[in-house]
Amino acid sequence: MAVDDDGDVLPDRDAAKGFYAKYEPKEVLGRGGCSVVRRCIEKETGQQFAAKIIDLSDSSTDGVYEATMREVEVLRLVAGHPFIIELHDVFESSTFIFLVFELCEHGELFDHLTTVVTLSEKKTKVIMRQLLEALAHVHGKGIVHRDLKPENILLDDNYNIKLTDFGFAKVLTPSETLTELCGTPGYLAPELLRCNMIEGSPGYGHPVDLWACGVIMYTLLVGCPPFWHRKQMVMIRNIMEGKYSFQSPEWDDITDTPKDLISITLVVGITPSGCSPRLDSPSRSQIIGVTLVEKQYKGRPFNAKKMFQFGIMCVRAVIRIQRLRFTPEPVSLAVTRVDPYRIKALRKVIDNCAFRVYGHWVKKGEGQDRAALFQNYPKLDFPRSPMEAPLIVGQS
Ligand code: ADP
Ligand code: MG
Repeated sequence: MAVDDDGDVLPDRDAAKGFYAKYEPKEVLGRGGCSVVRRCIEKETGQQFAAKIIDLSDSSTDGVYEATMREVEVLRLVAGHPFIIELHDVFESSTFIFLVFELCEHGELFDHLTTVVTLSEKKTKVIMRQLLEALAHVHGKGIVHRDLKPENILLDDNYNIKLTDFGFAKVLTPSETLTELCGTPGYLAPELLRCNMIEGSPGYGHPVDLWACGVIMYTLLVGCPPFWHRKQMVMIRNIMEGKYSFQSPEWDDITDTPKDLISITLVVGITPSGCSPRLDSPSRSQIIGVTLVEKQYKGRPFNAKKMFQFGIMCVRAVIRIQRLRFTPEPVSLAVTRVDPYRIKALRKVIDNCAFRVYGHWVKKGEGQDRAALFQNYPKLDFPRSPMEAPLIVGQS
């Protein structure tokens, strides 16, 4: 049995010759129900990937092969979208399946959230827009994901999202509904729970994904899920009654826009005013979701006059900043003491004082020295001693 540095069992080489010939497996990135995801390097190119290794040898994994093949089929249907994980390669043997995906350097959105606790409205907006775009693409192909949660949203090296784990995804025909109970408890939509608890309830469809988006958005903004309760039964009841609130102090600093969006997505049933956007026709619900995010977050519409005024303001600001270079140097105390009139800022003060002293402007070149007003050293134009006294002829 082959074992890696961490003591994890590696698949038997003979059963997976194709994979080992092409890739070098490295450390474990994450684990799923019956899978291990490892970083791996493509030998020929040196490029990094993430290989999801599914063990089929265990008898408890009955049906896993079929489920994995369904996942591969869905991944191929949704391929080519910037916010959906790209399946690069598939290898299968009787004991293992290897799904080789593009590598998401920053791992799960869940782990990122655990590190940062909450995301700003701005970052939440970027993530939600990307998620709704990815979902619009998925729903456009008639597919419902059914397991949207931060653990299944990966982040690439630019922190763009990659929607992954299509293990519960299902292709639906336009009139088809589902009744199967699957997903993750905190993210389950009320209609999905109801059709498993109340006899005769209608099935569910694509809008269950939009409900999960509302739960994700709430969680990203305040770091805790909307319906959570330590007793799971109470949490389920809260979900079915749509009981959540924006009361906690964390919500005080959050604007109405994300709150409105969450309120639109976490709608239990048909509202008195008609159909809620979430429960509107399945394929349209996502498009409405994207439009809402766009509309509510886009800000003010383009206004040419305001844009022009803003441009002029910017030019003025730049000119002022450039002029700052010509701002006088700080006044030197030494120069102020010796020759204050040399300093431009003081010159004006001196002139004003001169005006007050003489009652008129003192002009240069008229034998009057304005600077003399501020001379603070003794003027030596008188005799220092009687011996030096000028002889004044004719004085008595
Ligand atoms: P499962 O279907 O068993 O839940 P996932 O496809 O969700 O398996 O993968 C399990 C975990 O492995 C993910 O939550 C994530 O931490 C990690 N992982 C999966 N794919 C990648 C990838 N492409 N890049 C980086 N990590 C990944
Ligand atoms: Mg998963």
